[in-house]
Amino acid sequence: MKVSSHHNTDSIEQIRSEVTVCTLCNLCQTRTKAVPGEGLTSTRIMFVGEAPGRKEDLEGRPFVGSAGKILEGVLQKFGFSRAEVFITNVVKCRPQGNRIPDDEERSACRDYLDREISVICPEIICILGRTAFESILGGKSIMSSRGKFIVRGERKYFLTIHPAATIYNSKLRSVLENDIRFLSQEYKKICSQNSSLLTDYMS
Ligand code: URA
Ligand code: SF4
Repeated sequence: MKVSSHHNTDSIEQIRSEVTVCTLCNLCQTRTKAVPGEGLTSTRIMFVGEAPGRKEDLEGRPFVGSAGKILEGVLQKFGFSRAEVFITNVVKCRPQGNRIPDDEERSACRDYLDREISVICPEIICILGRTAFESILGGKSIMSSRGKFIVRGERKYFLTIHPAATIYNSKLRSVLENDIRFLSQEYKKICSQNSSLLTDYMS
């Protein structure tokens, strides 16, 4: 069941309009376009990556480059269409040369991610890779925690590797695929439990 958001007057459009012109950290000086999260606002699942890459920076949209193609392909393979999920990043502007965003940038941008999560209120937040794992859950090794769910506070997280990791190490492709397969099975269970609850309630 969806729990209503605390930011009752907040919206994905409001967050987007703020991110687009944001100057809270130094990444605003080198970005082409800021990259707010995008997708289905009523979705029950959200994916969180690290930061925009070159193509994302040019287009102002998350996961539209080579990592995005991989993510989209794996999602599709296990029954998620891009249109029915929400996709975002820990930081919304591209660090030059695709370096890992530093602590200052991550904390400057943190409120946007928290607000996206509050507005969407997803049943599952899928964390893609080490940067998001560190930033959101304070985790260290994604390889030893991946493929698992973690419940923290009122939220449920699923951990997997970053799709870009599979570009340089093709063995990781099956790791990502197995994780998303498992995630998809669990997600379908959650959705069918919820819809039978709804049916009970309505009958
Ligand atoms: N990598 C990410 O972490 N996010 C994107 O949006 C693109 C590539
Ligand atoms: Fe603002 Fe985040 Fe972009 Fe920094 S990375 S300028 S905090 S939107």
